[in-house]
Amino acid sequence: MTTIATKTNLLGLSQGDLEQFLVARSEKPFRAQQIMQWIYQRDCDDFDEMTDLSKSLRSQLKGDAEIISPMVQARHNSKDGCIKWLFSSGSGQAVETVFIPESDRGTLCISSQVGCALDCSFCATGAQGFNRNLSSAEIIGQVRHAIRELPRRSNDEPAVTNVVFMGMGEPLANYRNVVSVLELLVSDWSYGMSRRRVTVSTSGIVPHINKLADDCNVALAVSLHASSDDLRDQIVPINKLHPINTLLEACWQYAEKRSKRFITFEYVMLRGVNDSIAHANQLASLLKGKPAKVNLIPFNPFFGTEFKRSSVETIRHFQDRLRERGLIATTRKTRGDDIDAACGQLAGKVSDRIKKPLGKKIIAPKTSPEKPNGHSDIRLSSV
Ligand code: SAH
Ligand code: SF4
Repeated sequence: MTTIATKTNLLGLSQGDLEQFLVARSEKPFRAQQIMQWIYQRDCDDFDEMTDLSKSLRSQLKGDAEIISPMVQARHNSKDGCIKWLFSSGSGQAVETVFIPESDRGTLCISSQVGCALDCSFCATGAQGFNRNLSSAEIIGQVRHAIRELPRRSNDEPAVTNVVFMGMGEPLANYRNVVSVLELLVSDWSYGMSRRRVTVSTSGIVPHINKLADDCNVALAVSLHASSDDLRDQIVPINKLHPINTLLEACWQYAEKRSKRFITFEYVMLRGVNDSIAHANQLASLLKGKPAKVNLIPFNPFFGTEFKRSSVETIRHFQDRLRERGLIATTRKTRGDDIDAACGQLAGKVSDRIKKPLGKKIIAPKTSPEKPNGHSDIRLSSV
């Protein structure tokens, strides 16, 4: 029987893993730094071009290793400059990545899983169920591809200045691969981004929030969305495992380890569900005096959902009340309304393994299903 030797994909390996790979081949660990510079800073896929490596190492790498990026299936350009890519994740499935350009920065919103198992009741990704974790190559490959395709900024910086894990999937449920990618994003041998410009958004996997603070303390956004356990249990089911008080305790510890840098609390505005002044008061009491800012996200409808977006006035009153109570509160702006790329609308192509009926929307008002209204909200800056 013939054995087919499999090659190691060097894309997405953390520096530590790359060093181990090289040391196992009797090479010095610092070669990892050179290879990382070739892959991420010089966008090189060809070992022959890595001329500061010895000829023998290059030929060994050609035999044992490869640099394979995820395949792009489609690109959609919005009129306002936002771009969405669909990356193939095998077996007919795909994940989505969105670029949001602004005058002072370019934010890339990346995916970490094919689907999501956490089943938040207002999220299109959750409604599809979960298929698998993306590999670190598939995650960092989204960033590499965007940087490769997009023209540099006027100050000659790469187009992508900020990365947020707010695409498909729950990043802290794919912990190991996500941490490898975080390390690459901030490493001087790779993209060298400031930790402040890399944000992990989580629905609240508490043990991993605690761990992240030690492993790679980037900026943290927490999808709170409700001010009481009763309500959060229903719309963010992971709350049953990690209720609000445990979650907030982990957040304050995280902030402490980051010299009290603010944690962003995301709060999706669902009409008649979590958007009353009483909810705003309750939210303010939870967060007052803490290193917290609140980012209100107007709900983005998707096919089959029974939830509706709160009105502009309701969102403004909610935000005003939070401010009156001393909190920093902003509302995410609407952008990219001609491509389906909004928070929670990224659906890619997922055939799930955890099947569940779409529409167990326990507390949503009983109205007819709403189709996407075309007002996508993919701008991550706020007013
Ligand atoms: N799984 C992570 C990150 C991906 S979702 C998390 O939940 O934080 C990114 C953000 O979009 C989260 O705050 C999420 O709650 C929000 N979101 C999900 N569905 C949405 C929708 N339909 N409209 C607006 N925001 C949504
Ligand atoms: Fe998963 Fe985040 Fe969507 Fe919840 S909101 S289902 S955690 S992707």
